[in-house]
Amino acid sequence: MATLADWKGRLRRPLQLELRSGCLDTAIVGGVEALIRRLPPPLRSLAGRLDGYAELTPEERRGRLEAVLAELASEESGDGEPQPAPGPRPAPAVDVGSGTEARGTRLGPDDLDAALSERLVDVGRQAPKKLAEVGVGTYRDLLYHLPRRYEDRRALPAFTALRDGEVATVRGEVVSRAGMKSRRGMHVFRAGLMDAGGARVTAVWFNQPWLEKQVFPGARLVLSGKVKRVGRQAEIVVQGFEVDDDSESLSFDRIVGIYPSTQGLSQAYLRRAARRLLDALGQVPDHLPRSLLGRHDLISLDQALRAVHFPASEEDLSRAMRRLKFDDFLFFELAVLRSRDPNRSGRTFRVDPDDLAAFADILPFDLTPAQERALDEILADMQAPRQMARLLQGDVGSGKTAVAAAAIYVAVRNGAQAALMAPTEILARQHFLNLQQYLYPLGVRSELLVGAMTAAERRSARARLRSGEADLAVGTHALIQEGVDFRDLGLAVIDEEHRFGVTQRRSLVRGMPDVLVMSATPIPRSLALTSYGDLELTVIDGMPPGRKAVTTRLVNAARRREIYRFAWEQVQAGRQVYVVTPLIEESEALDEVVATTQLAEDLRAILPAEARIGVLHGRMPAAEKDEVMAAFRRHDIDVLVSTTVIEVGVDVPNATVMIIENAERFGLSQLHQLRGRVGRGAHESHCVLVAGDRSRKTQKRLEIVAKHADGFAIAEMDLQLRGPGDLRGTRQSGLPELSIGDLVTDGAIIEEARDLAKRMLEADPDLRAPWASRLRVELRRRSEAVMVREVI
Ligand code: ADP
Ligand code: MG
Repeated sequence: MATLADWKGRLRRPLQLELRSGCLDTAIVGGVEALIRRLPPPLRSLAGRLDGYAELTPEERRGRLEAVLAELASEESGDGEPQPAPGPRPAPAVDVGSGTEARGTRLGPDDLDAALSERLVDVGRQAPKKLAEVGVGTYRDLLYHLPRRYEDRRALPAFTALRDGEVATVRGEVVSRAGMKSRRGMHVFRAGLMDAGGARVTAVWFNQPWLEKQVFPGARLVLSGKVKRVGRQAEIVVQGFEVDDDSESLSFDRIVGIYPSTQGLSQAYLRRAARRLLDALGQVPDHLPRSLLGRHDLISLDQALRAVHFPASEEDLSRAMRRLKFDDFLFFELAVLRSRDPNRSGRTFRVDPDDLAAFADILPFDLTPAQERALDEILADMQAPRQMARLLQGDVGSGKTAVAAAAIYVAVRNGAQAALMAPTEILARQHFLNLQQYLYPLGVRSELLVGAMTAAERRSARARLRSGEADLAVGTHALIQEGVDFRDLGLAVIDEEHRFGVTQRRSLVRGMPDVLVMSATPIPRSLALTSYGDLELTVIDGMPPGRKAVTTRLVNAARRREIYRFAWEQVQAGRQVYVVTPLIEESEALDEVVATTQLAEDLRAILPAEARIGVLHGRMPAAEKDEVMAAFRRHDIDVLVSTTVIEVGVDVPNATVMIIENAERFGLSQLHQLRGRVGRGAHESHCVLVAGDRSRKTQKRLEIVAKHADGFAIAEMDLQLRGPGDLRGTRQSGLPELSIGDLVTDGAIIEEARDLAKRMLEADPDLRAPWASRLRVELRRRSEAVMVREVI
C-alpha cells in the first residue's frame, strides 16, 4: 500500500517534469488531469487547483503548478511515513578509513530522502522552490544533480593572451558598464572588465536589456565568448557567463562542473549547495561489494559522487564517470533482463504482393537493392506472430523513410493503423509531407499531431484516430505523451531513436504493435544485439544512385570572411546555404536565441545587403519555424542561420553549402549528419567546418569528418580518439535513457555491466542474497523513478 507521503512523492516528479517541459500538458501520459484523477482523495483536493488544466494557457498552468509543488514540498514532512526524529543525528557507520574522519557527518545516509525543506543542511532559503524546478526535491536528488559538462578553469588566460577569433573563457572584475541601442534597434550592453594583471577587455552582450539590472561595477564574472581584437583593444562577444559570487573558490582555478539549471538558479549557487551537502554527508554506502569493485576496476560510490561534483583532475573525473556510468548501465541491464520476454507476441500481418507492386508504382524511384533487402527483413518480422522490435540503421540519405513507408502501407492494408514518431516538429512535418506524397494516392488517410496545434485541431485529429477514420498518425513525442488512443495500432515507427529512451518507446507500444526504429547513427552489430536490450538490427548499406559526394573543408575562424565570400558566390549562382551554430548553454533558454541572432547580425555585416538571411531556432513558436522552413524551401531565403533544429531529416535539394561554426562543439556523428543536409540535388555541394579554437585536438577530430564520408567509420574513429578520459557530462539518476550515442561511446562499459548483470541474475534471480540488499533497494528506487517519470 502506498502511503500518502509516497503519493506525494510520486506526484511531485511528473509535475516537475511538466513544469520543465514548458507546461504544454504533454509531459504526462493522458495529461495532468488524468494524473490527478488517479490520486487518492486527500491529495485530489490538494491538486484540485489543477482542475481544468488542459484549458489553461501555459502561463496560467505554470502558476498553478508552482503553487501545488510548493505546497507538496512544504507538507512533505507532515504526514504519512514516519520521519527521522529531529535533533542530533547519529554518526553513520564508518566502514572505510580514507578521509572520512575529517568530514563533518551531520547527515547520515538515511537522511538523503528528506526533503530539502527540512533544512538539514543550509542550502539557502530560496533553495527548495528553485531547485524543485530542476527536479531536485530531496537531498538525494541534490547529490545526484550532476554537472552536465565541465570547464577546465585551472589556468584561465590573462586578457593580454587572448587571440582574435578564438572562443575563450576568462575571469575579471567589472569596472565600467553601458547599455545602448544599435542602429538596427538592437540592445547592446558593454561591460569593461579588468583581470588580475590589470589588463582590460570589453564584454559585449546583444539583446539582453535586463543585464543592466544585473551587472554592476565590482562584480566578478566568469565568461566565455568569441574574442575580437582590433589593435590593442579586445572585445569578447559573450556566449555564456556566470556572476562569480562565491567566496569558496568553487568556480575557478579548478575543473568546474556546469550544472543543468534554470533562470534564477546560478551555477555558483549550485556548486555551493553541492559542496555543503558533501561536507555534511557521511560516507555514502555502496550498493556494490568491495570485491566486485576491485574486479571491475571501480572506485567506491562515495569517492565517485564527490569527484564528479568537484574533480581534482581529469583522471579523478574519468574514474568517477566510469563508476557512475557502470552503475547506470548495470541497473539498466538488470531491469531489462528482469522484464524481458523474448516471445512477446505482436501482430501477424499478411503481405500481399499486389500491395507491394502498387506501392512501387507510386514511388517516384526504384528501391535500391539495399533498401529491398531491408524491406524484406522487416516484412518477414511483420508476417511472424512474434512482436517485431527492429532497428533500421542507414546513413543519412540512405532512404530509410521510403522503406518505412512500404511497411506502413502493408500494415494499413491489413486493416491496422500505423504511427510514426519523430524527434522534432520540423522533421515530423517533413515526414508527414513525404508519406502523404507516397501514401495518399494509395488511399491512406494520415493525421499530423504536433505540439503547436490548437486544442480543437488536436481533438478532431485524435477523434479520427480513435474511430479508425485515419490510418496513420505522424507526430512528435506528443504522440505518446498525450496517450493518443488508436482504434488499432499495428505498427509503430520511431525515427532517430537516439533521443528516445526505452521506456518512452515502451509507452508507445503499450498495445503491442510491431515496432520499427530508424536511426542514422551507426552502432556495432554486437552491441545492438547484446546491449540494447531488445532490438534486432537491419542495415541499409548502400546509397541511392546519383548522390554527389560533399566536398568538406576545415578552416579556422580567421578565414571566415573568405568562406562567406564563397558562400555568397554560390548564392549568386542560385544556390542556398545553411549556417549552423552550436548551442552554448542548453539550460538557458535565451542562449539559443542569442547565438543565432548574433550570428545573423554578424552575417548581415559580412554579406552584401541584398542577401536574404533567415533565422531558425528551437525557441521560436512552431508556426514561425514552419514559415521560415517553408520560405527556405521556396527559395525566399538564401542563407539560413540555425541551431541544430535542422540536424535531422531536412531535405532541400537546392541547398549546396553547409557552414558549421564552432564545429568543435559538435559530436563527429552530428557533424556528419549535418553535412548530410547538402548533396541532395544535382549540384556540387560543400561543407565547411569552422574551428573556433586552434588546438591540435580539435584539428585532429575535425579532420576525421573532413576526410571520411562513411558515418560508420567516423563514429568508430571518434570513439577511439575520445577514449574514456574525455570531459563529458554525465546523466541524472534513475535508469538511463540509454541512447545509441551511448552505445557507441560507452560500448565497453555497457558490455561489462551487462555481463555482470547476467551473472548476478543467473546466480540469484531475485537478488535475495544478503550482500545484495542495498543493490535491490537501489534497483527498485531507480526503476520507480523511471516508472513515475514516464508511465504514470
Ligand atoms: P534517410 O531518412 O535515410 O536519411 P530519406 O528517406 O530521407 O533518407 O531519403 C533521402 C532522399 O533520397 C529523399 O529525397 C528520398 O526521396 C530519396 N531517395 C530515397 N530512396 C531513393 C532511391 N531508391 N532512389 C532515389 N532516391 C531515393
Ligand atoms: Mg530520415
